[in-house]
Amino acid sequence: MPNIAVFIEQRDGAIKKVAWQMISQARRLADAAGGEVWAVLLGGDANAAAGPAGAHGAHKLFHAGDQLAAYDSERYGVALATFCRAQKPDLVLVGATALGRDLAPKTAAKLGCACVSDAIALTFEGGAWEVRRPVYAGKCFVDVVPKTAPAIVGIRPNAFVAQEGTGAPAPVVAFDAGQAQVTPKAVVREIVTATAGRVELTEADIVVSGGRGIKGPEHYALIEDLAAALGAAAGASRAVVDAGWVDYSHQVGQTGKTVGPNLYIACGISGAIQHLAGMSSSKCIVAINKDAAAPIFKVADFGIVGDLFEVVPALTEAVRKIRG
Ligand SMILES: Cc1cc2nc3c(=O)[nH]c(=O)nc-3n(C[C@H](O)[C@H](O)[C@H](O)COP(=O)(O)OP(=O)(O)OC[C@H]3O[C@@H](n4cnc5c(N)ncnc54)[C@H](O)[C@@H]3O)c2cc1C
Repeated sequence: MPNIAVFIEQRDGAIKKVAWQMISQARRLADAAGGEVWAVLLGGDANAAAGPAGAHGAHKLFHAGDQLAAYDSERYGVALATFCRAQKPDLVLVGATALGRDLAPKTAAKLGCACVSDAIALTFEGGAWEVRRPVYAGKCFVDVVPKTAPAIVGIRPNAFVAQEGTGAPAPVVAFDAGQAQVTPKAVVREIVTATAGRVELTEADIVVSGGRGIKGPEHYALIEDLAAALGAAAGASRAVVDAGWVDYSHQVGQTGKTVGPNLYIACGISGAIQHLAGMSSSKCIVAINKDAAAPIFKVADFGIVGDLFEVVPALTEAVRKIRG
């Protein structure tokens, strides 16, 4: 039976959106393949997760909590591998977050199975899984058919759309995560987040991004001010990152992050295909560009043809007034 397990990533109890996106996609595939979707939560609150897991399409939620509250590479690797040996899923989906990029290959090494990273599409054709991932810095794509069961696949956040239905909460099944046999070689004492207080791009409901039109690093503050006023994350085009005006962690696009917010505001961004690859699934796109012929207007729901140095501060002011 081609059952699909989906790793539910939690940090301090908060679940990453990519989990619901993967469950939704897994359910679409499992229905076609005749299998089930199993959410796997390590640490966190299983009863709180069971509702959204079921609503997004999980048939069951497997949970192990003992010693797994915070991420520990060795403990989580053993837990996920133990789960796989006992339940024998055909496919295991793990979000390609910083945590997932560590966990997926570690678990695959323990199981001696295939591991495909950074997937942007997943299909089930003629009884086999097919995974699409970018290679050579996004210049082309390869379609990979894993030959082991299970196969572990890292999924890019926002590659799939989360679809919340009215499904009942997923029944919670406790499992033995094999922690008694783990002797950690290192202990995590404290986690200090560099992005404390900053909204994470891939999780944000609103993203404000700046492109080469901002002219220099000193003007990125315009983007950050509007983002702060809206409670949004601040992004950038690759042109801005390559010029060294902001850090790579802000880059949106094919070789940056894929975002899927309710509102994406592109300021001084032309709309190159590689940028669109990372944001075109946003629910509402607003473009601010002084060139009425800029390609970004083809995908924008609302466009402002104007100078961003006038429009963006005026918008920030208006948002601040409305929000008091
Ligand atoms: C393999 C590969 C991968 C890539 N990956 C990515 C990626 O992940 N993300 C990404 O973004 N790009 C990526 N690129 C680069 C991409 O092709 C574009 O070069 C890049 O997106 C352009 O950035 P931009 O729109 O900021 O700059 P430009 O294309 O230079 O556009 C600047 C825009 O600002 C407007 N403007 C100028 N002044 C003002 C003003 N005062 N007010 C309002 N508007 C103004 C201009 O009209 C113009 O439309 C990749 C390219 C390759 C080959």
